[in-house]
Amino acid sequence: MNIERPYPSEAVLESFGRMTPDPELREWIYTNYIEDTGPLYSDDHDHLQHASIGVLWSTEPNTRQGRAIIGQAEIPAKSTMGGKWLRARVMQQLADWFGEIPDFLITLDANYCAVCPNVDFLALVDHELTHCAQDRDAFGMPKFNKQTGMPTFTMRGHDVEEFVSVVRRFGVGAAGAEAKALVEAAQSKPEIGAANIAKACGTCLKAAA
Ligand SMILES: [Zn+2]
Repeated sequence: MNIERPYPSEAVLESFGRMTPDPELREWIYTNYIEDTGPLYSDDHDHLQHASIGVLWSTEPNTRQGRAIIGQAEIPAKSTMGGKWLRARVMQQLADWFGEIPDFLITLDANYCAVCPNVDFLALVDHELTHCAQDRDAFGMPKFNKQTGMPTFTMRGHDVEEFVSVVRRFGVGAAGAEAKALVEAAQSKPEIGAANIAKACGTCLKAAA
């Protein structure tokens, strides 16, 4: 699939250790992934039609557990790091950047995204968007705010977490129905294109830590 993608600006790439909001990248994500007319649309992201998403380029290198982190998704309002004043500073910064506290914040490594193949960038954005989920109740039904009627949001972990050695020894059934679905998906041709991301998502490593 041939899709034009946004790149970090020269000014962003010449910076070091900075975070830069990019409203055009944000618009591009909505137009391509979230609106149902977009070429990368997936109904997995439907609830995001009601979400505000802030998007940042980072030129601050980030590593965890020896792996370079190239993307991360989070819910700023649920972030509990630091004390009250640190939290107040972070919230103020977000409001100054985005005009509100966004429901989700996605941060992408500008230097990686400037040079990675198109399909890897598309897959990275899709990966981060998939972390940005609608909460579900005890019966698995999507949750809505009783007052506003809007979806309530949460971070979604991986569909599959299993050891390769267990699947090798006991078969994919040992890893559950979602692992079977993953194998089936892997056996069919990629709908968009075959990406190859060897680096890491900060949200995944955080979930695994
Ligand atoms: Zn992830």
